[in-house]
Amino acid sequence: MIVIMQTGAADSQVSAVQEHLASLNLNWIVNRGVERTVVAVIGATHPDQRDGLLRLDGVLDVVPISRPYKMASREGKLGSTVVKVGDIEIGGQEPVVMAGPCMVESEDQLLTTARAVKEAGASILRGGAFKPRSSPYSFRGMGVDGLKLLKAASQETGMPVITEVMGVRDVDTVCEHADILQVGTRNAQNFLLLDEMGKVNKPVVLKRGFSGTYEDWLLAAEYIMAGGNQDVILCERGIRTFETYTRNTLDVAAVSAIHHLSHLPVIVDPSHGTGRWRLVAPMAIASVAAGADGLLVEVHPDPDKALSDGAQSLTPANFSRMMEGVRAVTAVGRENKKSVINGGDEQSD
Ligand code: PEP
Ligand code: MN
Repeated sequence: MIVIMQTGAADSQVSAVQEHLASLNLNWIVNRGVERTVVAVIGATHPDQRDGLLRLDGVLDVVPISRPYKMASREGKLGSTVVKVGDIEIGGQEPVVMAGPCMVESEDQLLTTARAVKEAGASILRGGAFKPRSSPYSFRGMGVDGLKLLKAASQETGMPVITEVMGVRDVDTVCEHADILQVGTRNAQNFLLLDEMGKVNKPVVLKRGFSGTYEDWLLAAEYIMAGGNQDVILCERGIRTFETYTRNTLDVAAVSAIHHLSHLPVIVDPSHGTGRWRLVAPMAIASVAAGADGLLVEVHPDPDKALSDGAQSLTPANFSRMMEGVRAVTAVGRENKKSVINGGDEQSD
């Protein structure tokens, strides 16, 4: 942490900063420049200590040097995290595609979709059983019956299953049926649920909050990791902006930014990220070209009749076409990821 004094700060004000640091058992180095004095704090500091320093007379700003998320930060681990689900590796050599309906609607709808996405190259089946809906009058999913259908589809196709867990009370039930738990955008700062995710022994896909910064998102991941679960996969799914044509604005730059800031794998959901099926394949391809470790894509055998998110769901034929594009750019994406992690030639930010 660096304490920046105001121009012309009095020696007594600098001394007060030193006394304050001493009371916190911290060491420091005082650097007196031509215009202003800065005090570099040495040792492990806590973000909460910043406010006390900012209140002192003569202090202009207090700038943290290390990141507030320790375990999720790139400095927190050598190399990159690879999350294993059976023999599938998320964050490994190939981008992993998770696909399926927004919502489990029936055995036939789920199985038809599962077989089609597998055939096209997906390796994990998605499907919502407990659905967060903006309106309480919308259908909110089949619940446990939906989880049972997902498990049966997983057994038939051999694909592991990812599904959303909406609340603390559902954690055990969802764990019994799913291989990966998904924390949705609306729960991205539900700290009690994140605490619970720290205790489960299943990988967690953590969606970015639709108004969350990268720091908010990585701090949410930190909750899960600090709770004991290191298998966190971050999912960019678009954020709210002033644009109304798309449902959300997909932040493809998040892929590279998070690879720079964190060792965790990053996947992209171009379905919720755009809300329009025509944009899904181009954004899926762009995400993989940027180095995404995977995709989460909504597919429905008959999108016009979907009970949820038909407008952004791909038909199996269009999903298959999307997969061709994804395969074509995979090598580019892996090179991009490597160059973000290893850095280019040194230049200032
Ligand atoms: C979903 O993937 O089913 C979903 C509801 O996504 P999000 O939380 O990103 O809206
Ligand atoms: Mn959906």
